Amino acid sequence: MEVLIFPNPGLKCKAKPVEEIDEEIYQIADEMLKTMYDACGVGLAATQVGISKRLVVLDIEGNKVGERVFVNPYIVEQQGEIIEEEGCLSFPGLVGKVMRSQSVTVIAFNLKGERLQIKADGLLGRAWQHEIDHLNGTLFIEKMTPASMITNKQKIKEFETAYQENNAGVR
Ligand code: ZN
Repeated sequence: MEVLIFPNPGLKCKAKPVEEIDEEIYQIADEMLKTMYDACGVGLAATQVGISKRLVVLDIEGNKVGERVFVNPYIVEQQGEIIEEEGCLSFPGLVGKVMRSQSVTVIAFNLKGERLQIKADGLLGRAWQHEIDHLNGTLFIEKMTPASMITNKQKIKEFETAYQENNAGVR
């Protein structure tokens, strides 16, 4: 699997709910985990690998234990506000400050189809909001603080130029 890099239009797709947790989902989840660890990421949404399914892998500790694959996640409750720096595997080398909820409660299903309720704050809470945004086609630069946006303007332009150059012959 390859992680789509901004501004690949695939990143703007709104992912469809997973209807059935079958062999295909197991396989996608496996490959997503591998892709995330290879890229030293803490989270990855299926939309980032060009798959329009509401599937997220998360492992902020990177220790490969516990529940790491989440199906059809959504936020049911959020509290507080906090601005912290974040990055994204679809924007290699770019970091910026984003306002997020301080804590969130997420409902999701694991690969066994069991319903999970997860309360998360800190880095995990931030990662959840970031990944669920991906499933909705929302990118973290769209939520960056104005100051971070100014700092990163040139870098974002460079991503756009690189994408155009790489795809110039394909059209
Ligand atoms: Zn991301």
